[in-house]
Amino acid sequence: MDPKETVLVIGSGIAGMEASLMLSKAGKKVYLVEKLPLIGGNVIKTGESFPNMECSTCLVAPIQQEILQDKNIEVLTVSNVQSVGGEAGNFDVTILKKARYVNISACLGCGMCYPVCPVSQPNNWEQGLIEKKAIYVECAGSLPNVPVIDSKLCLRLNGTEECNLCTEACMFAAIDFSEQDELIEIKAGAIIAATGFDTIDATEIEQLGYGKYPGVFTAYELERLLASNGPTEGKLRLRDGETKPETAAIIHCTGRDLVGYCSNVCCSYAARHAHFMKEKLPEIKIYDIYTDLCLPDKHYQKLNTEIRKTKSTYIYQSEPDKLNIEEINGKLKINYLDNQGTTSGLEVDMVILTTAIKPASGMPEIADILGINLDKYGFLQTQEGSIGSICTNRSGIYAVGCAEGPKDIPSSVVQSSAAVAQVMNLLES
Ligand SMILES: Cc1cc2nc3c(=O)[nH]c(=O)nc-3n(C[C@H](O)[C@H](O)[C@H](O)COP(=O)(O)OP(=O)(O)OC[C@H]3O[C@@H](n4cnc5c(N)ncnc54)[C@H](O)[C@@H]3O)c2cc1C
Ligand code: SF4
Ligand code: SF4
Repeated sequence: MDPKETVLVIGSGIAGMEASLMLSKAGKKVYLVEKLPLIGGNVIKTGESFPNMECSTCLVAPIQQEILQDKNIEVLTVSNVQSVGGEAGNFDVTILKKARYVNISACLGCGMCYPVCPVSQPNNWEQGLIEKKAIYVECAGSLPNVPVIDSKLCLRLNGTEECNLCTEACMFAAIDFSEQDELIEIKAGAIIAATGFDTIDATEIEQLGYGKYPGVFTAYELERLLASNGPTEGKLRLRDGETKPETAAIIHCTGRDLVGYCSNVCCSYAARHAHFMKEKLPEIKIYDIYTDLCLPDKHYQKLNTEIRKTKSTYIYQSEPDKLNIEEINGKLKINYLDNQGTTSGLEVDMVILTTAIKPASGMPEIADILGINLDKYGFLQTQEGSIGSICTNRSGIYAVGCAEGPKDIPSSVVQSSAAVAQVMNLLES
């Protein structure tokens, strides 16, 4: 196939998925490479999304389905780009497609194979709130709804014993231990990098007590607790899975000084958190502890004003790095400096940390493979001095969504449209 008819998209979050669909509709063949076993990216970790407070799964599932059914889009999950040679209009790309050990065409996603597996491990997708087996799907409703086997933990694959339990449980003969990792060579005219973000490890800020006090949660842990396909099926409970919190505090800008920039979305999703916590437990008393409020765009100020009127008491703290949390008689005491610089204390059952967004793990490696630069924070660098550019320093390679820096869903998708316009301009001229 003429390389100018093919585009490689790396990362299947909202930015990568939208770019892939637009390119397919413009008649291009797309290879969509995703390192995880499922597509959808970070948006599907959230129960709902601002500004419309709509269910994230309902927002993303039709896009995921369209991607998986689109004949122009070849989705390569559990895959990584290994090398990129050539030049704009004619890149030579090598992709490593790792063995899933489950035949995607034969599997019906019935889930009979997981319960029988004797090996358990923390489910990182569910923020470690529950466990998963050596054969697993990340969460209910994963797409593709096909499990993957962790070759390091599977007793059969790591040579511990001749375990056959998942094979026996599968009525559709979908388990396939003969699958091998595969190297795929493709030619592509252009590349869109949509590798997204991670959040900082909250244990790095010792005085906040994350990992030490069970009542301290990260924003993504709360997202999974609020999500109907999460570990508590949407019930808001403390870590024991039973206790309903009566009071909660959302601490803004967690780790902002560590990363050195504003994460752009935390103040807005904090308002959404207060809204849905109150919806789940109407009696709960919620506080937001903040220093600055970042409410960009036309929707977010209004959302914040409504939440402050009806759902949460906003408390100003003057010096975020002085805030600390201790546990006293099972309650969490938040010590902070108020607007007079005086130490104040607030006792709550639950604390939510809005952990800062940071570049996705593996960002230096993928930048190196693509031959493109990182900015001083470790995100993919776009052309300096060119306002709103999504072009990298290597012609024919574009950076979109949170791979380029923290942003919300609408801004991520706007960048995808811009990249697709650039790609079409390059390949059709
Ligand atoms: C707690 C929280 C709540 C939020 N709530 C909202 C909200 O309500 N509304 C809103 O508008 N925004 C919200 N956001 C922001 C929103 O999540 C982002 O705007 C959106 O996820 C950006 O999409 P993306 O595709 O750029 O990145 P991601 O969603 O991070 O997707 C990137 C994808 O790339 C994959 N990937 C990474 N590296 C590689 C690689 N080397 N090779 C292959 N694949 C790779 C990842 O596995 C992932 O699937 C929230 C953010 C946080 C942290
Ligand atoms: S073969 Fe591996 S994945 Fe299957 S049940 Fe046994 S340990 Fe689990
Ligand atoms: S591998 Fe078999 S048992 Fe497991 S989900 Fe697929 S069809 Fe069901």
